[in-house]
Amino acid sequence: MIPGAFDYHRPATIEDAVALLVKLGEDANILAGGHSLIPLMKTRLASPEHLVDISGIGKLKGITVNGDEIIIGAMTTQFELITSGELGRHIPIIAETSRLIADPQIRYKGTFGGNVANGDPGNDMPALMMCLGATYSVSGPDGSRDIAAREFYQGAYYTALGLGEILTAVRIPIPAPGHGFAYEKLKRKVGDYATAAAAVVITMAGGKCTSASIGLTNVSETPLWASDSAALLVGSSLDEATVSAAVAAAEAITNPASDMRGPAEYRTKMAGMMVRRALDRAQSRAKG
Ligand code: FAD
Repeated sequence: MIPGAFDYHRPATIEDAVALLVKLGEDANILAGGHSLIPLMKTRLASPEHLVDISGIGKLKGITVNGDEIIIGAMTTQFELITSGELGRHIPIIAETSRLIADPQIRYKGTFGGNVANGDPGNDMPALMMCLGATYSVSGPDGSRDIAAREFYQGAYYTALGLGEILTAVRIPIPAPGHGFAYEKLKRKVGDYATAAAAVVITMAGGKCTSASIGLTNVSETPLWASDSAALLVGSSLDEATVSAAVAAAEAITNPASDMRGPAEYRTKMAGMMVRRALDRAQSRAKG
């Protein structure tokens, strides 16, 4: 399968990339790692006339600790997320999730920014970013602005990014030391998108849950933040009745399509199962 013809641009700065995107308008698409966009172009589901390749912009790369948050540049690859010692020490659920994305070849090229900006509910990072309370930094023709991950996703492939805007970095608050975490993903085979997946981060003290956050992947048009489900857990010892109520609350906000990964009812139940398993593993890892 061969994509349609397109012009290729490789700006060296964020400002140049924004100017190009504004000039070229709707006919242009940002190219990052290309592992979501190029397959769409090959099947002609996307036919941009211009590709603006942002891989030459050095400022978009890197992982830095800044006080109580970690800043990840948009062009950081999934492989770099897995191998970063700093990230592994502070927010290990990011590497755990990255390892479940696609296969090693794709993770070498596929970028963190491409994964979160794509708007595909099947991407794994968006629900995790909602779970972690991340903030997206964006540059565009009117300057820079921040968008909460929890407000970024508006529909399938439809996000809060405006014309000419580039996601430059993601800022993630570092969870409390000793937090419990787990990303559970049900997939049909290695390299597949999720039938359903759940990200869980909790803190415990004296055997009681003191905070909880839950994100859900690929069980609606957008990634989901299951705030009501998580709220049920706080103050409990994560006993069976409370966990079952939280699982039911998470299932209640899903709205998956019936597709080759299974009927909608099955995918909803699997979302609940992923929450249950992730909670179980997160509790076993939590200190306190
Ligand atoms: P690209 O493909 O280059 O871009 C994707 C979209 O995001 C484009 O519309 C582009 O314009 C836009 N974009 C990219 N960067 C920016 C930016 N900085 N600012 C604004 N817009 C931007 N992903 C998963 O999460 N889980 C999986 O299980 C999974 N399985 C896969 C299996 C296969 C076989 C393949 C081919 C891909 C799979 N992926 C999966 C997708 C993969 O992780 C992609 O690499 C990733 O989603 C997109 O990153 P990219 O750098 O390749 O982005």
